Amino acid sequence: MSIYDALAHLVNVDVGDRGIRNIFYELMLKRVLNLEKIADKALEFSERPMIVTGFPIPPMLIAETDGPLGALALAMALEEVGGKPVIVAEKTLLKPLKKIWKRTISYEKASHYKPSLVISIEVPGRASDGKYYSMKGLEIRCDPLDEILLNYYGKVYTIGIGDGGNEAGLGSIRNLILKYIPLGDKISSIVPASEVFIGTTSNWAGYAIVAALSIKYGRDLLKGFDEGNYLKMLIEEGIVDGVLGRPNASVDAIPIEVSETVIELLRGLLRIKI
Ligand code: MG
Ligand code: MG
Repeated sequence: MSIYDALAHLVNVDVGDRGIRNIFYELMLKRVLNLEKIADKALEFSERPMIVTGFPIPPMLIAETDGPLGALALAMALEEVGGKPVIVAEKTLLKPLKKIWKRTISYEKASHYKPSLVISIEVPGRASDGKYYSMKGLEIRCDPLDEILLNYYGKVYTIGIGDGGNEAGLGSIRNLILKYIPLGDKISSIVPASEVFIGTTSNWAGYAIVAALSIKYGRDLLKGFDEGNYLKMLIEEGIVDGVLGRPNASVDAIPIEVSETVIELLRGLLRIKI
């Protein structure tokens, strides 16, 4: 197993029991998930990355804690390697995220920016009927953030990150979403990406990409990433846990301490190579 496969494995333990591990196993066996390639491409096109994030949770349609933290880790890492990343945030996430990352812009402003790379992390991806759904099959009314991934598909390198199958980009592995995810036929996204990456949470998937990028760049790019503090800032602004439906120091009902431990494990693996 390569170090990249090990990093990918670590973030796909599926403690949330969503069925994502079955998809992970199949993708790994078929050599479809390629974290090393994602890191290579992210570095190659790191000049002007656009990172899109924000999944509004019904009934209040307030963005969840999964997505923005992974987006921040990616933005900070891509800045450290010399890029000028911008984060496009869902509207309820705009103000909270701007407090942490200045170059956070709205969906409306996204068209003014010409990206060299597009990463979508935990963004609702339209289903086959053109609507957006939560994992529970509830319809979500939201800005069509997935259009960014659709528009740039085939033009610049795009990476789609998700943890359930209803996210933009996971349309590329729709056959597996239909096979393994409950309500897959209803909720699965049809929006493709050049490359897909999955995780127990989308944040963890984002951290694994940063870890892979660290190996390529030769420096620990997760060092100093203060996940607990960023989460605290987001929940103070009302951002909710996507499973619990209320602000809480957790992501998809997984306590933040677990997530911090995963980051430490990723960083531990890095020490083998850096
Ligand atoms: Mg999700
Ligand atoms: Mg999630």
